[in-house]
Amino acid sequence: MSRRRMIYEGKAKILYEGPEPGTLIQYFKDDATAFNAEKKAVLDGKGVLNNRISEFLMTRLSAVGIPNHFIKRLNMREQLIKKVEIIPLEVIVRNVAAGTMSKRLGIPEGETLPRAIVEFCYKKDELGDPLVSEEHIAAFGWASQQEMDDIVSLALRINDFMSGLFSAVGIRLIDFKLEFGRHFEGEMVRTILADEISPDSCRLWDYETNEKLDKDRFRRDLGGVTEAYAEVARRLGIIKESAQGGDVIDFTSGMK
Ligand code: 5GP
Repeated sequence: MSRRRMIYEGKAKILYEGPEPGTLIQYFKDDATAFNAEKKAVLDGKGVLNNRISEFLMTRLSAVGIPNHFIKRLNMREQLIKKVEIIPLEVIVRNVAAGTMSKRLGIPEGETLPRAIVEFCYKKDELGDPLVSEEHIAAFGWASQQEMDDIVSLALRINDFMSGLFSAVGIRLIDFKLEFGRHFEGEMVRTILADEISPDSCRLWDYETNEKLDKDRFRRDLGGVTEAYAEVARRLGIIKESAQGGDVIDFTSGMK
């Protein structure tokens, strides 16, 4: 595939050295994993859809002043991103009870929460990314107080913006996971959004039917995983219906 230097290989993405200092290339694989990689599959076309959906969301977030690592999409599976030092936290924002929150607290899936709740997990595969408190984060020095203030405020702004964006296309944003990084800009260090935002990292339910349009289709063996991701892309206007009735990914729209 390439003679570029690989920097890191994760479960769903690979990072390569970028063309200029301070840049990386993020490659989206078709691999799907769940339950800390106990369950694995290859889902044809998932990487292409996530590349495009993440590009769309990061571009919209930039436009409303949310700093993030996205620079431009390079091709079907790759995007050029700013190199950051990843803060070792998974930041989860929840609007509706589901997944581990429902299990942990006995709240039925689908119950709207009194307000958006931000949770933190320590990013450590060997430990299964355990839930941690701000006390742990401060005591172990995973992020500074300033970084935590920035992360919470950015996460809530992202939630407001994305809830509206998805609601406009008939999708309920149940919850999602974000990652942030330290971007070194000369003397300054800025906390910016990194990683990806896609149906791999969000719970997205159809407003009318509550049909799941996200990775829970894979986790819970519901089938039609890439079809659901394509439906999200179609509703966001990334995919156009072709004259033959099939989906066509429009790779020209939004190109810089
Ligand atoms: P839960 O804690 O209920 O399993 O997940 C909450 C939200 O964060 C869901 O939208 C889920 O997709 C996302 N999430 C949690 N952990 C991970 C992870 O390790 N990788 C990805 N891609 N998403 C995650």
